[in-house]
Amino acid sequence: MTYSKIIMVEDKKIALVAHDNKKQDLLEWARFNRVLLAHHQVFATGTTGEILEKELGFKVTKLQSGPLGGDQQVGARIVSNEIDFLIFFWDPLEPQPHDPDVKALLRMAVVWNIPIACNRASADFMISSPLMDSEYERLVPDYREYRSRKIALGRGEGA
Ligand code: PGA
Repeated sequence: MTYSKIIMVEDKKIALVAHDNKKQDLLEWARFNRVLLAHHQVFATGTTGEILEKELGFKVTKLQSGPLGGDQQVGARIVSNEIDFLIFFWDPLEPQPHDPDVKALLRMAVVWNIPIACNRASADFMISSPLMDSEYERLVPDYREYRSRKIALGRGEGA
């Protein structure tokens, strides 16, 4: 497998998402890490973003609410290299109407090898990493091989 490198600059583009039962947790975490977070560009799904902006007083780029497409917007931004870090406190005890979107978002984070934290302990370790304030070369599998894979096409009826 070959890899290409994506440079993550010092000023990271961080997406914050929390399901309803986890919003309090994320808010407390963000409050504690307010100064560190303020150095970076913060994005969030709609409701999470409203709460964070109001409570923390720094600018948050708010996308659509998660169940209304916000998770997919975050995923699309990961693909286009507009988000390079995800803190996603998803709820392990409550079914979500947008479960496929949740899964898709987590999948995109893995496909593009961005750091993801899904609970407070992981988020603590990530935000306090010395890599947060330096440039980082993120390795992404070179998907050219995948794109040029052979597809077996049968003959259409008209052939
Ligand atoms: P919300 O979305 O911030 O708009 O509540 C979060 C989610 O459920 O993905």
